[in-house]
Amino acid sequence: MSDFRSLLRPNIRDLQAYSSARQEHAGEEGIFLDANENALGSAARESLNRYPDPLQKKLKEEIARLKAVSAQQIFLGNGSDEAIDLLLRAFCEPGKDRILIMPPTYGMYEVCAAINDVKVQRVLLRPDFEIDVASVLEALEPRTKLLFICSPNNPTGNVFQPDGIERLLRQFQGLTVLDEAYIDFAPDKSWLPRLSRWPNLVVLQTFSKAWGLADVRLGMAFAQPGIIEVLNKIKHPYNVNGVTQRLALQALANHRGKTRMVGEIIQERDRLQKGLAALDLVDRVYPSDANFLLVKMHDAASVFRRLLQKKIVVRNRSDQPLCGDCLRITVGTPEENRRLLHALKEIDISPEQTE
Ligand SMILES: *Cc1c(COP(=O)(O)O)cnc(C)c1O
Repeated sequence: MSDFRSLLRPNIRDLQAYSSARQEHAGEEGIFLDANENALGSAARESLNRYPDPLQKKLKEEIARLKAVSAQQIFLGNGSDEAIDLLLRAFCEPGKDRILIMPPTYGMYEVCAAINDVKVQRVLLRPDFEIDVASVLEALEPRTKLLFICSPNNPTGNVFQPDGIERLLRQFQGLTVLDEAYIDFAPDKSWLPRLSRWPNLVVLQTFSKAWGLADVRLGMAFAQPGIIEVLNKIKHPYNVNGVTQRLALQALANHRGKTRMVGEIIQERDRLQKGLAALDLVDRVYPSDANFLLVKMHDAASVFRRLLQKKIVVRNRSDQPLCGDCLRITVGTPEENRRLLHALKEIDISPEQTE
């Protein structure tokens, strides 16, 4: 693989980062007259008048401890979506460079690429939802800078075979971005412990799923310190607000609460899987290593419509390759899942009203 510096866009390689006021004096004590804040306080009930730590040091220390990586290997962003966008902006020259994705997969890779005017190469997963490694290797070009692998994959729900991922890591010259948004729900281990072996690997994780903090918008990227430095250089100075940083610290102190929820969700997923598989309108339920199920219906459009009439919202993925007639259903609370199954039974026995 190439040194990541040679993969960077030249303007990013040469960029002098903006230094924010609070970066120069790190301590918490002092008289702070450097950032034009309101020294008197906030109009809100909470004290929010000071700019947050631009490099989120405390939070990174806790994450580093939990994940057994160094703080210099962590980037924090406004959701993982920020990391995806920054990687594209750092490495892909608009109109020239490319990324490679493996549909059906998470939509943001493609959207971010389109916004940045970066071409997208697509190599479909195999019908069993595994990576078609030979075809990916064949499709890679010198201009392919980023390879996005989502494992467990959204919307198919499966973890990819590690030897396939390893073959790609070994052969691809660019950066491999491994999106582990759903890794907590999988029996497989994260690739984080292998980070130091693969200098061009970027692992993405998020607080939005297992941690239950989708509202605060906090995503993590893990990579070698040089790559993290680049992301920090081009991010907005105060990209992760102080409220988010404090709430995330609170959550990290309750790691057991998260583990307990993950256990319950997995249990509920397996129960829901059986309930769905027993319905006549369901063709098959794919196995899942995530907190959702991909379900092939006999007529997904009709089921989707009729669930909506009953105010039950699922995701119709039928337009995705290999996902014809598929709905993606997030695992809910036991009560929500019970009501979903009940609604599907009703739909099953009474044909659609056509008005
Ligand atoms: C939900 C999800 C994310 C999380 O994105 P955030 O911006 O951190 O909320 C990332 N990747 C995939 C594949 C997802 O499904």
